[in-house]
Amino acid sequence: MIPAFPPLRVARSSHPDYAPARTRAVTVAGVEVGGGAPVVIAGPCTVESRAQTLAIARACRAAGARMLRGGAFKPRTSPYSFQGLGREGLEILAEARAETGLPIVTEVLDPRLVSLVASFADVLQVGSRSMQNFPLLTEVGRAGKPVLLKRGFGATLEEWVYAAEYVALGGCLEIIFCERGIRTFANGEYDRATLDVAAVRALRGLTPFPVIIDPSHAAGDAGLVPDLAAAALSLGVDGLLIEVVEAGADRRRVKCDGEQGIEPGELAAIVARAGSEADLRRAPLTPANAAP
Ligand code: PEP
Ligand code: MN
Repeated sequence: MIPAFPPLRVARSSHPDYAPARTRAVTVAGVEVGGGAPVVIAGPCTVESRAQTLAIARACRAAGARMLRGGAFKPRTSPYSFQGLGREGLEILAEARAETGLPIVTEVLDPRLVSLVASFADVLQVGSRSMQNFPLLTEVGRAGKPVLLKRGFGATLEEWVYAAEYVALGGCLEIIFCERGIRTFANGEYDRATLDVAAVRALRGLTPFPVIIDPSHAAGDAGLVPDLAAAALSLGVDGLLIEVVEAGADRRRVKCDGEQGIEPGELAAIVARAGSEADLRRAPLTPANAAP
């Protein structure tokens, strides 16, 4: 599927020192993604206010999340929807990091704003809608920060891998792939996007970089998130990216993706499950599921 020539920087074939099943871990402020234990990254969809973000960041920290997510620049379908707080949102995230110690994952939408966002972020997120914004990919690759590359909701694996190659060409080999669901005929009926679980295995065969799953944007509904998260963990993913709302929040008042944010108590349950999964991976129960 991916042609052998030219050899891609992001392909396993370009990393002969990596055995077929090994992952090239990405370390973010001491948190290792791809080191064996699944990492839970959690936070609000969008930074809406200082109070909301700090409250959710504290709750995520208490629930055991290892990184904080939150959008300051939001890709919105309608230009009339809330677009994020911009720079002020980045400053709020930095304050949340200072208080909780959690590194920040935040999206950059505009190639002109990469250096601004990179001056705050620990990980630059490229969103699903931007996966084939080639000037953005190149700029993000030059920024000197790890990159979380979401799959375009209409992208093939090949397109996704080539998007990562643009990032790598900029000089960045700290790439985390994130599957977040694709559009299929069923969308809207019982999920927001179809979580492409088979893609995880295929992608792992192609690239040595960590692969995580975002169950929130695939689910579109908080009730479905724990099941998709559990399915993701059982696939052996390197992490989860999860949206969280404040406990008891009025979802209708959340400015973006309120329906799909889980409460901190549910996040704690997912973190516990990720911990059990890490134990399983360290000490497989039977020779049959031992790592090769
Ligand atoms: C997000 O993470 O808030 C987001 C906008 O996700 P996606 O790009 O996957 O839709
Ligand atoms: Mn969102």
